[in-house]
Amino acid sequence: MKSGTLYIVATPIGNLEDITFRAVRVLREVDLIAAEDTRHSRKLLSHFGISRPLTSYFDHNKEFKGSYLLDRLAEGASVALISDAGTPCISDPGYQLVRDAVAAGITVVPIPGPSAAITALSGSGLPTGRFTFEGFLPNRQGKRRERLAQLRDEPGVLIFYESPNRLVAALADMAEILGDRQAVVARELTKIYEEFVRGTLSQVAERFREGKVRGEVVLLVAPAAEQGQPEAPAVSSLLRELLAAGDISLKDAVLRVALETGLPRGEVYDEALRVKAALKDV
Ligand code: SAM
Repeated sequence: MKSGTLYIVATPIGNLEDITFRAVRVLREVDLIAAEDTRHSRKLLSHFGISRPLTSYFDHNKEFKGSYLLDRLAEGASVALISDAGTPCISDPGYQLVRDAVAAGITVVPIPGPSAAITALSGSGLPTGRFTFEGFLPNRQGKRRERLAQLRDEPGVLIFYESPNRLVAALADMAEILGDRQAVVARELTKIYEEFVRGTLSQVAERFREGKVRGEVVLLVAPAAEQGQPEAPAVSSLLRELLAAGDISLKDAVLRVALETGLPRGEVYDEALRVKAALKDV
């Protein structure tokens, strides 16, 4: 018998308009939907007129529920996995199910859609060329600080999910351990009170210190090397090295250096023109 397909379906992180046509169609067509919290997901499904059989799949039942779902898939049933919000498997249950499905030769089809990390990064204004997604830091302060120390030299933007209750404490630890870098808190993404708070870690902490932090937050921290702008000489010497070699076009050199430094392409392009002119004069 041909086995069924496991669909990993992303759902909105707030605004219901963010579901895709494909996600709705797949959720309408599958034999079974596995949801992290069936009560929560029932509201989403009924909003879109989806009434397929629903079962739970969450952290504490994933062992035995995973085997059940794999059996159903092996019998030919199609199954969609959804989480409470966003993309399953991203700081949400699902990875083990996908791993085991792949091992069992079952086709896995991801249906892309929102994820808070990427949504926050895209609106942050921080360089997007490289980033490290860290998910949730450990709850205990000692462990959290230990993890932060390990992240000090990461070259890209650091992206964290954080509970609103721990936000100020996490920002204070970050300022101390990572240095007072540029940071962005993206709060309540796609919802009515969406806001981006930008500044240094200590400025952002100050902004949230008064009163209770409400809603959901993603915390982004700029890399150490990109405090403000990388130094012009670093950009110039990267460009000089590439252009002097002579086997790369100006456009490609600009693209590569912009990606490496996180600087805007226009700015790198201007510098590339200067470097090229200087090379001609030599
Ligand atoms: N799988 C989800 C995804 O793809 O984004 C993440 C699930 S994780 C359990 C939940 C965390 O994601 C929240 O604590 C918060 O840090 C972040 N998050 C989810 N929705 C958000 C939103 N609308 N605005 C800001 N952060 C959000």
